[in-house]
Amino acid sequence: MPYQSLTLPDFAAKFATVDSCLEAIVQRRWPDGWKCRHCGGVRYHRLRTRRVLQCATRSCRRQTSITAGTIFAQAKLALPKVFLAIYLMTDKQGVSAMALRKHLGCHYDTAHRLLMLLRGAMADRDQAYALQGVVQVDEAYVGGHGDGRHRRGRARDTKRVIAVAVEQSASDVSGFVHLEALPAADSESLHGMVLEKIKPGARLLTDEWQGYNGIGDKGYDHQPTISPGGHAASLQWPLVHRAISNCTRWLLGTHRNFCLRYLPEYLAEFCWRTNRRNRSKQDHDRNTREATLPDRLLTIACRQRPRPRTAAGKAA
Ligand SMILES: [Zn+2]
Repeated sequence: MPYQSLTLPDFAAKFATVDSCLEAIVQRRWPDGWKCRHCGGVRYHRLRTRRVLQCATRSCRRQTSITAGTIFAQAKLALPKVFLAIYLMTDKQGVSAMALRKHLGCHYDTAHRLLMLLRGAMADRDQAYALQGVVQVDEAYVGGHGDGRHRRGRARDTKRVIAVAVEQSASDVSGFVHLEALPAADSESLHGMVLEKIKPGARLLTDEWQGYNGIGDKGYDHQPTISPGGHAASLQWPLVHRAISNCTRWLLGTHRNFCLRYLPEYLAEFCWRTNRRNRSKQDHDRNTREATLPDRLLTIACRQRPRPRTAAGKAA
């Protein structure tokens, strides 16, 4: 049954016990069935007192941890609370660490740490994908106060530059979206982002900012257009401007006093949500199992092995 039909009380009831959560993790970690690494046996017992599966083969009886290597093992919270956090994080506008702390009745640091682990898994998931076809590229400033466009001078110091790239389909609909924090809006940073995240041969639509100069010599069809500036610019590249405005509103709405230090992780969450949302609708129409965001996040939380992340947001 797709989880989209589950309301918050239904979801909470379904995963109210450690037992029901462990069962859900087993199904997702071993979707094709568990197999003993020692004897190849496929039958197991789940021990009631510990988070382990025990091989049912009499001569073997080896144990496998259910949660080792997953986010569930690293979160210092009861499993039903982690499941609830996953539901809340994927609901509409997501959840801040401050709000999650209240919902779960835990320490702020515990809530923050869990959200950062989940954001890390989201970033890992999207890392391999490269944008292709026609791609709109722009830069923007986020953080500080206001919407990033109308302040000058010192207020600029509290803002960070981000690169925004959006696939443009034939019908002017957004495809895959990538937002990334950059050290600067210079050619070194912008070229680096393009080379890493956009497939060679793509057509790049940018303004005439000098940071893009020379990217056409690196395997891309680059078409700079003079930016009309102000409101007209948002009409010329509507997809990137919509992504920037959605991201800014989400950061200010859900996370209010968000810390710029964690901007890469926030951007990873924004991209993951945006990129999954449209696909979820299609999947739901086809009635596939992975139809909803809580479903998808549960799956990557079960399968991905989180790695420590550096301040720059790159997996170490
Ligand atoms: Zn065995």
